[in-house]
Amino acid sequence: MALSESGSPSEFYAVTACGLILGSIGTYTFRTNRPRRSVQPASPSTGGASASIDAPRLKRVFELELERGCENGTVIGGIDRLLVELAESRSLSGTSSFGRLVRALPDGGYRELDRGRRESWIRNAVAALAETIGREALAKRRPAQGKKLSGPITVSASPTVLPGIGRAAAERLVKLGIFTAGDAVRHFPRRYSDFSDVRPIGELVPPLPAITVVGRVVRARQLRYGRRVRGSEAVIEDDTGSLKIVWFNMPYIARMLETGATIVVSGRVRHYRGKVQMENPDFEPMDDDLAHTGRIVPVYPATAGVSQRVLRRAIKAAVDELADRIPDPLPIWASRGVTQAEAIRTLHYPEALECAKPARREIALREFLAVQSAVLLRRADWQRDRVAPRLTLGRAREGLLESFGFELTKDQERSLAEILRDLEGPTPMLRLLQGDVGSGKTVVAFAALIAAVASGFQGALMAPTEILAEQHYRLFTQLLGGDSDSALQGVFTPDWLPRPIRMILLTGALSAGQREQVRSDVANGGADLVIGTHALLEEGVTLPRLGMAVVDEQHRFGVMQRLRLRHKGTNPHLLVMTATPIPRTLALTVYGDLDSSVIVELPPGRLPVNTVWVQPSEREEAYAILRERLDAGEQAFVICPLVAESEALDVKSAEEEYESLRRGPLKGYDVELLHGRMPGKQKDEIMTRFAAAESQVLVSTSVIEVGIDVPNATAIVIEGAERFGLSQLHQFRGRVGRSDKSAYCMLFSSAEDPGPDATRRLEAMIETNSGFKLSEVDLELRGEGEAWGTNQSGFQTMLKVAKITDRDILLEARALAEKVLERDPLLQLPEHQNLAAATKPFLEKATEAN
Ligand code: ADP
Ligand code: MG
Repeated sequence: MALSESGSPSEFYAVTACGLILGSIGTYTFRTNRPRRSVQPASPSTGGASASIDAPRLKRVFELELERGCENGTVIGGIDRLLVELAESRSLSGTSSFGRLVRALPDGGYRELDRGRRESWIRNAVAALAETIGREALAKRRPAQGKKLSGPITVSASPTVLPGIGRAAAERLVKLGIFTAGDAVRHFPRRYSDFSDVRPIGELVPPLPAITVVGRVVRARQLRYGRRVRGSEAVIEDDTGSLKIVWFNMPYIARMLETGATIVVSGRVRHYRGKVQMENPDFEPMDDDLAHTGRIVPVYPATAGVSQRVLRRAIKAAVDELADRIPDPLPIWASRGVTQAEAIRTLHYPEALECAKPARREIALREFLAVQSAVLLRRADWQRDRVAPRLTLGRAREGLLESFGFELTKDQERSLAEILRDLEGPTPMLRLLQGDVGSGKTVVAFAALIAAVASGFQGALMAPTEILAEQHYRLFTQLLGGDSDSALQGVFTPDWLPRPIRMILLTGALSAGQREQVRSDVANGGADLVIGTHALLEEGVTLPRLGMAVVDEQHRFGVMQRLRLRHKGTNPHLLVMTATPIPRTLALTVYGDLDSSVIVELPPGRLPVNTVWVQPSEREEAYAILRERLDAGEQAFVICPLVAESEALDVKSAEEEYESLRRGPLKGYDVELLHGRMPGKQKDEIMTRFAAAESQVLVSTSVIEVGIDVPNATAIVIEGAERFGLSQLHQFRGRVGRSDKSAYCMLFSSAEDPGPDATRRLEAMIETNSGFKLSEVDLELRGEGEAWGTNQSGFQTMLKVAKITDRDILLEARALAEKVLERDPLLQLPEHQNLAAATKPFLEKATEAN
């Protein structure tokens, strides 16, 4: 179990026990490595008692456990679960006698002890807790010691050393990611209230950008349009006049405003129907201290139970005391005149609003520098001292290219050349192949796999679904000049290879016996090409001569799975493909350790897909278009709406849709249903029939999202389109327009006005067919967080200031990281120690995630 040096015993326990109980080591390992209130003993005055465990309750639980014969049935999820929760909520003291007992448990936890040892452990625990309870009672009787919970303000001290922060507040700060006084320094303002420029209401002349006004609440109420509550409205006044404020879509605000209370509001002011009105402002209760500051005051992300006032005071103290002591990851030689401490101070308390931005930039740059150094280190680590087989297409090249039956596009050619160049070298390739849906990545990957085979190695391709794996198998069958017979046998004899080769399909759909057979074939080197799903990653599948591994639709897999595939062989080359193009900035972060090849240009003759947004009233017309396509001998997909998180419900809705289409608008046409719950064989048959144009319409759940390739399909209907994300919609649309016939994508929305975000998504779909452009829109819409294909990255949550959308800063950081690592590949020089430490959490995230 990896354990950072800073990890404290109880945290260590949390890691092991979570691995055991919750089966999710990655997340916990990561969390334990954040600097924060370590499980230090509380001050000596409280005798090292733990910060806040509910000792009486815990004691009762353990007593009950004793009574019940130590069966580990007292708590749901077992005693270990309870301990993990304690450790997780950081209420376990590492040095209390109870904390020591927890630490003494074996890695497997309480569960692993035999009856006798459980009993003695519980008895000891009860005694330890009794001791704690006694001490706490004693401490309570002493006169309060003011804020002296504490000691000196240090970076790693508990936030209770900060003024105004007691134990209860410290608990709440955890929700804000503040575990230590040092974390408080890095809790930056969400915005500012400008008390150097508070405007009298009477002097407001709209339009005004965000400005600050202080006033008394005259009245507040919910806004209704028709019968639905839609927002809040309030009127505030000062000595110079009164101002109407409107909060759209925020009916709860009305309840938060008390008549007579004085509040500070900051927001845009404009004319509305001849009257001055402020819209959607941030607001907070007025605080007497504030008015007199006459300066720009930070407004922090807050949490229930900790007011801005308390936060400001505590953070101010932390900043004053610690800003200079937070290690600066930016190497001195790269410094640009502003120290990190100055930037931190300015970002909390800018002299003028304009000063905040450059300060933010300084800090964001440092964060990105850590991320970029981490991904580059990871890359170096993968390639260092590893020698990959040298692969070339050799004499197979010409015949292979001919087998495609078309000329490669320029982008395909360039990508293939980049890949082949990597394969000829001794360093294991780590390359991302990005290309829009239908841009022809698969043939490029196939060529890379053949290079392995032609050089006497094995090639493997992993796809995210069975349907896709099977489709790849079929396509490769065709490219290898095989027919259904050879596909069944798995033996192929293309005339451009000097010997017959074996290709095997390995998916979860195989029976246990078949799988065993396949595995042994693969392990004994009897298979040259292995196409499969996650099943490839299972224990027991070994690919001793694996030279080239391809991961299709990378965004469906995590870094871990990528690694596991690599470890199946000895240092194979790796190509990951994604059909959801991601903005460059994101690529640098999420796939920052990979080289990148991009296919932008689509194969010739492709027409952009005609995309329309069909209103509920226009359904009939849309079906008419659909029937026209079918009558012309073409085929169509119907995607059913996403009902819930539950696949079962999705399946049900697909079944209903299928029935109603067959009886109604598509009566007389050959309609088939396909969903993820069907047995693999059945899915396969349905897909095969559709691919062979034996059926006309495929009604499906989102299982066909990725990769399905049926060029004769020219129309796709997407029901409940407003429910899908942009990348998914784009993937769906990519199922059509794969030939030279014109194609249609009909987006059915169930509501006329699906809300601003959904509207923007649907409009973007109509505006452009380019996945790269859509990815930018998506990033803009969703901003940080789980934008486009990054759900597995988790990076954003680890960044305090930097945002993936800060493109320039990110690029600057990338260049800088490259420079640093060129000088000092392992970050071993003294001047890079701070940076090395800052990369740690990201390195761990990267390798432990997923
Ligand atoms: P994707 O990038 O989505 O994986 P595919 O590799 O499935 O795209 O290719 C989409 C379709 O385009 C396939 O039918 C493939 O045979 C075809 N294709 C690929 N490259 C070319 C090309 N250069 N010229 C014509 N058709 C091509
Ligand atoms: Mg594909």
